[in-house]
Amino acid sequence: MSVDRLAELIRERRPCVVLTGAGISTESGIPDFRSPTGIWARYDPLEYATIDAFLRDPVKVWDFYARRLEVFGAAEPNDGHRALVTLEDRGWVQAVITQNIDRLHERAGSRALVEVHGSVRTSSCLDCGAVVPRDEVVALLPVPHCPNCGRVLKPDVVMFGELLPAAQIGRAESLAREAGVLLVVGSSLEVYPVAALPLETLANGGALAIVNRGSTPLDRRASVVIDGGAGETLTALAERLQ
Ligand SMILES: [Zn+2]
Repeated sequence: MSVDRLAELIRERRPCVVLTGAGISTESGIPDFRSPTGIWARYDPLEYATIDAFLRDPVKVWDFYARRLEVFGAAEPNDGHRALVTLEDRGWVQAVITQNIDRLHERAGSRALVEVHGSVRTSSCLDCGAVVPRDEVVALLPVPHCPNCGRVLKPDVVMFGELLPAAQIGRAESLAREAGVLLVVGSSLEVYPVAALPLETLANGGALAIVNRGSTPLDRRASVVIDGGAGETLTALAERLQ
């Protein structure tokens, strides 16, 4: 019933812009961050996920990222990622904004993609600016050094204490403002500034829909809330939006 309502909302109010978080990737076997079995339960973010931690001890932070690259490489896009590609192909979804750095949307085939927290596609040198693609970085593990100057590379992901890439967050904000519907998938909307994107949509007269396991602070302002998995819900949605 809720999926029917969601399909109806998108039909009425398109364009639909999708905002995804860790909850869509857990169905591909990638752990989330904040749940009891999540990444922060095993790795203290202050030691592994801040820019200060990286500058202090990049070797330690790379030990963490090497494991994450291995998990991402072994994971495959799931039904949720694929359904979003289908909906984009059919013209229902205008763009996907994601907090995920795992490249699963790209590998599924999403074309209009805004990665607001960066991605593991490349790593960069903070001294000389060299940009090194993922496959080369993997070959340089356990600690990838810059091929030009020798400094330890930094993965091109946003760490705590860093600003979000201006072009990506600017694009995400303008998509959120222009969206007829902002569909949040697998995000508990707790991490700013991404969590503020739905407020941009609402402030400009758009509607909000949320598909997430568990509640979010914006459930009360959403037109549709589905407490369910991304894969099954988005597959059912694609069946209704031919
Ligand atoms: Zn360098």
